[in-house]
Amino acid sequence: SARPNAAEKPSPMMQQYIEIKVAHPDTLLFYRMGDFYELFFADAEVASRTLGIVLTKRGKHLGEDIPMCGVPVDKAEDYLERLIAAGHRVAVCEQTEDPAEARKRGGKSVVRRAVVRLVTPGTITEDRLLEPGRANWLAAVARRRLSEREWAYAVAAADISTGRFTVSEVAGIALMAEIARLEPREIILPDAIHDDEGLRAFWQEQRAAVTPVAHEGFDSASAARRLREYFGVAELAGFGQFSPAELSACAAVVAYVERTQLGSRPPLSPPAHEAEGSGLAIDAATRANLELTRTLSGERAGSLLAAIDRTLTPGGGRLLAERLGGPLTDPPAIAARQDAVQALVDDIVLRERLRARLRAAPDMARALSRLMLGRGGPRDLATVRDGLAAARAVAGDMASGAVSAGLPAELDAARRDLDALDPAWGEALAAALADDLPLLKRDGGFVRAGHDAGLDEARLLQADSRKVIAALQARYAGESGCRQLKVKHNNLIGYFVEVPQAAGEAFVRPPLNETFSHRQTMAGTMRFSTVELGELESRIASAGGRALAIEHAVFDRLAGALADHAETIKRAADALAVVDVTAALADLAVDLGWTRPHVDASLDFAVEGGRHPVVEAACRRNGVAFVANDCDLSPPGAAKWGRITLITGPNMAGKSTFLRQSALIVVLAQMGAFVPAKAARVGVVDRLFSRVGAADDLARGRSTFMVEMIETAAILNQAGERSLVILDEIGRGTATFDGLSIAWAAIEHLHEANRCRALFATHYHELTALADRLKRVSNATVRVTEWQGEVVFLHEVVPGAADRSYGIQVAKLAGLPAKVIHRARAILSELEKSEREKPVSALIDDLPLFAAFNAPRAAATEVRADPLREALDTIVPDELSPREALEALYRLKGLR
Ligand code: ADP
Repeated sequence: SARPNAAEKPSPMMQQYIEIKVAHPDTLLFYRMGDFYELFFADAEVASRTLGIVLTKRGKHLGEDIPMCGVPVDKAEDYLERLIAAGHRVAVCEQTEDPAEARKRGGKSVVRRAVVRLVTPGTITEDRLLEPGRANWLAAVARRRLSEREWAYAVAAADISTGRFTVSEVAGIALMAEIARLEPREIILPDAIHDDEGLRAFWQEQRAAVTPVAHEGFDSASAARRLREYFGVAELAGFGQFSPAELSACAAVVAYVERTQLGSRPPLSPPAHEAEGSGLAIDAATRANLELTRTLSGERAGSLLAAIDRTLTPGGGRLLAERLGGPLTDPPAIAARQDAVQALVDDIVLRERLRARLRAAPDMARALSRLMLGRGGPRDLATVRDGLAAARAVAGDMASGAVSAGLPAELDAARRDLDALDPAWGEALAAALADDLPLLKRDGGFVRAGHDAGLDEARLLQADSRKVIAALQARYAGESGCRQLKVKHNNLIGYFVEVPQAAGEAFVRPPLNETFSHRQTMAGTMRFSTVELGELESRIASAGGRALAIEHAVFDRLAGALADHAETIKRAADALAVVDVTAALADLAVDLGWTRPHVDASLDFAVEGGRHPVVEAACRRNGVAFVANDCDLSPPGAAKWGRITLITGPNMAGKSTFLRQSALIVVLAQMGAFVPAKAARVGVVDRLFSRVGAADDLARGRSTFMVEMIETAAILNQAGERSLVILDEIGRGTATFDGLSIAWAAIEHLHEANRCRALFATHYHELTALADRLKRVSNATVRVTEWQGEVVFLHEVVPGAADRSYGIQVAKLAGLPAKVIHRARAILSELEKSEREKPVSALIDDLPLFAAFNAPRAAATEVRADPLREALDTIVPDELSPREALEALYRLKGLR
């Protein structure tokens, strides 16, 4: 595509465009021309594609047409929103002088222009560009070498819409989990990390805008200085201990924020250090599979978050998402949150009262950030006013009544933060702000009448002048005898008298020309000025100017007062979010009959009557009962089940649901929420792994099977004694024997090496034999029954193995033609006969158990030559048409 190139002599305007564009290479340039922002060259092509707007041409460059498209200035926010959502960055370039000035400079002068704003996904503050319930993280990644092959990665993340700033360092592959937890909107990183072989695919699949930036931004030598400057401190030690990589990641965030905000410094909190190992590790695949904050198809509806979110404020919504994304591992910290939820479960009066207050609490944190960035408007002041009022009311409710004596620590801390607010701040806002507020402060009109004597006077004068004009118009009409005479105003000539052309002739002759002096003749009308109108003009203008200046001064005073107390107000906003989340979780628990799980440092996992929150909600909507199930993976002795439980049962029986619900109960328990169960005991899980379902990863060009094996490898390499592993149908993506062998070996590995808690759903019945051979493995099955030849799913998980797979019954339910079903039954019974004569499990019996673990170098056992087996090995079911499959079956029978 055509690219700007300064080699040839372009028009002066194009020359200016190219200069600005070269200074902002990695952004789309919105170049202001009159009422439009125009985009040129490749920018125009990208924008027209993303926005679906017409691509046109304007002039030539290097002999080629210049592609162009434009968006009207008054609709620009809409288009910006869509470009940002698509992950683009936009530089907004405005005219910075009056076109008349440029004309004065003569002939070929172009209007001066400059970039006034850089809009990037990770640095936006406008409400309409932000999701209320979601943090808007800008993340920076830096790294330091641990050894020849290993790196430690530092991830710093700032949300300038709320001022949050965190940093942590993780080893190697855990980087991916950390990025998945944060879900940043924008990631900046040095080229070396961006282009790293092992990470390139990972960056490509991010939803975030991923921007490699020059190495200097990450220079660790200057990092500390940059941070000290930003936060205006002499030493960083007060903020905590940071590794060099953490410092450079933090500094890169700060540098990028300063660059995009064109020098202004949003009020970030000092970077809060998150120690590694303080949270439940959930890798990206597990997070996606469990559909914690969004479903596999990317929507929020249907996710766990959507099912449990009863928060009433945007800040509460963000905190809930954050807690769900990063459950804890410290039992006392979890208990502290549970205590808070418990208190509001028990005290319905307080809960309801708090929730009523929270309903009136707007997004104070984001409004405050906008104000402090100089981007706020009158409505942001009102938001803070209302937020402060709600905060005081909440503090009052918590302090009064029977509860206050026993307010749990977490709520009491919130109450103290709310109490720190000075009522005078909100009162000052309430006293100054009008009832109906304009969006922008530019035109004034937001200061309440009676608040400022000077303002009232100026406004009176303006209003008076309008009356004077009306009177003047009446007088002029009377004196001239022209009843159509009007006093009008435009920006070019100010106030003027306008009369129809026919009547106008009289105005240029005595006696009227003494009062009226001719200015313009338009089509059908004539315009005149008068001395009185001229005087009025300047009076009105000065009164208007004075009024506006006073309003702006009031605005600056109010915003300045808030800025002085920004830390306290931000803390109060955080406290409101805590109260909101706590009350929301209590409301949920009471409404759905959830219970407080017992979380401790043991290795137990015992759930009585557990349910899947999302599937249960769907059942409820469909008027179907959800069947609650027990699960017990606690260490032997206490357990009815094994540490590793294999679950067999037909498709659609409810295996996946059972697996996922167990994982979700862990997440909920460790985030401090109550859980959908009659009772639950959870020994804290340090890492949660799940391989559930199989979605083709075509985007990355990997087969389902490859993805499955990569994820399984990650689990087998990383899971430890304290982990919980959930595996659903692994090995399904390949030929039966391959799959069975892999599943078999994986279970042995989990049992011998990982020694973790695990649930393993499989359709390989052969695997159930493992329960007899491995001490800590047991079988469970989801019950089904047959009724009049049809399979009926009971969704009940019970100890034991499934007797059969009911695949044909399920196929029948799905509507396969009766002929096919009939034929399949016949084939099945033949197959079962041959299986009885030479069962696969018998073949496996010949294998030395755990050879891999006990004697790693033991010679592989010889497998006897067996023509049937060899023939089987050559068959790849996935590649066969049904007809070929049938033929293969006949061939196999022939070999028997
Ligand atoms: P499988 O993994 O065995 O193929 P799923 O877990 O996907 O089966 O469940 C299939 C469907 O059965 C679910 O979509 C849900 O509607 C229903 N289901 C599963 N478990 C239960 C349950 N415990 N109670 C009620 N319905 C259930």
